[in-house]
Amino acid sequence: MTFQDFNFNEQLLEGVLSMGYTKATPIQEMTIPVIMNGDDLIACAQTGTGKTASYLLPVLNFIANANTHQTTALVLAPTRELAQQIDQQVEGLAYFTGISSQAVFGGGDGMAYEQQRRGIQNSVNIIIATPGRLIAHLTSGVLKFNHITHLVLDEADRMLDMGFSDDIMRIISYLPKKRQTLLFSATMPGRIRNLAKAILTDPQQINI
Ligand code: AMP
Repeated sequence: MTFQDFNFNEQLLEGVLSMGYTKATPIQEMTIPVIMNGDDLIACAQTGTGKTASYLLPVLNFIANANTHQTTALVLAPTRELAQQIDQQVEGLAYFTGISSQAVFGGGDGMAYEQQRRGIQNSVNIIIATPGRLIAHLTSGVLKFNHITHLVLDEADRMLDMGFSDDIMRIISYLPKKRQTLLFSATMPGRIRNLAKAILTDPQQINI
């Protein structure tokens, strides 16, 4: 399947092609139509399969078509490195769309915190965050989550391994109940199935 087959927003398609992507990977072929249809999703997928673009493209397509300046998507990831990689893919794919993003992660100095805080305040379209640091911004009151329509959990198994379970549930308690939730995990132990049961609604399931 080529990326022309998905009926993406024109500026988004331009970004995809400028990244050098021509053919969709197997996981992209399976997940993109499901996500564009509005369904919740639980996907078992490894790094290197193109999993990041498999959720970013439909989410970016939604934001591009909604033509909004509100924060409408939140991506949670286990580490600073992954959050930065996801943010870089957003910047590449969304380059021609005008969509804005902000990575939010801990471990930096006070200036990084301040920069991230200002980024959030400017009402970015998509926030990519590690759970612990997001909680810090949440309690400071700068985050406005009332327009979020899309929540993604990337590498959910690693987030649980790192002890982020309570943080994740607390963050979700601030989000609108009516939303589309996408959960990606390399493994599917019982804890992930329980998390999925708690936060997904009638999810489609995809295994790669
Ligand atoms: P991921 O599995 O999301 O970590 O992606 C692995 C790498 O594949 C990243 O560098 C992506 O930029 C790249 N990639 C994702 N989708 C495609 C595609 N359809 N064609 C070529 N490269 C891709």
